[in-house]
Amino acid sequence: MTARTPLMAGNWKMNLNHLEAIAHVQKLAFALADKDYEACEVAVLPPFTDLRSVQTLVDGDKLKIKYGAQDISAHDSGAYTGEISGAMLAKLKCSYVAVGHSERRQYHGETDEICNAKVKAAFKHGITPILCVGEGLDVRKAGNQVAHTLAQVDGGLKDVPAEQAATVVIAYEPVWAIGTGEVATPEDAQEVCGAIRGRLAELYGQEVADKVRIQYGGSVKAGNVAAIMAQPDVDGALVGGAALDAEEFVRIVRFRD
Ligand code: PEP
Repeated sequence: MTARTPLMAGNWKMNLNHLEAIAHVQKLAFALADKDYEACEVAVLPPFTDLRSVQTLVDGDKLKIKYGAQDISAHDSGAYTGEISGAMLAKLKCSYVAVGHSERRQYHGETDEICNAKVKAAFKHGITPILCVGEGLDVRKAGNQVAHTLAQVDGGLKDVPAEQAATVVIAYEPVWAIGTGEVATPEDAQEVCGAIRGRLAELYGQEVADKVRIQYGGSVKAGNVAAIMAQPDVDGALVGGAALDAEEFVRIVRFRD
């Protein structure tokens, strides 16, 4: 079995301007520098308008914190007003990009086909996609969370070759747990994350499946992260609200301390 370094990523959503972003990343860097903190990989996903400032800080101070975007255009360039391309994100040295976050699916009509095109755009430009999947409350109540989520995995990774799939990050985020304070139980998280790894093994073989990092996201906080991270198929957390508080996010990152 491949050892997987946990990825703790903060999705800032539409919060923190570029000045606040600098102060926030400085706080994270300071709090994670007192010992050589390498137990986890740490990433922030700020709004597009913050990325240049974050890049300058991370590059200038040689910080280990990674950063990425919350969305990517499926197109490379052209008449797509308001869109940001993978080439632009790559130029800013983004390591990651979230694809298909439930808020993109809900408010911007992003289908699995669109997510698939965005996953491919990210890989084309050397950026690791964090493919977000997960069921809504109605699906959960009907007990169809596994089938629903696996269909999103299949759709998002359609025609993605094994060598790329081995590096993708998948974030299982039950929609009913996002920003609601409702956290899935560790067993709920493991049920679906384990099923995702099983599907990856069917699609690409066990060796590839064992390399993929699968995050849980949905009201993760310092108080609940350790139990979730103890699950065998959970390799990190995608953190929304709690990532806006630098001290809380550091406590989440240091869940093992
Ligand atoms: C998210 O936005 O991906 C998320 C998980 O949000 P929250 O932690 O606030 O539920």
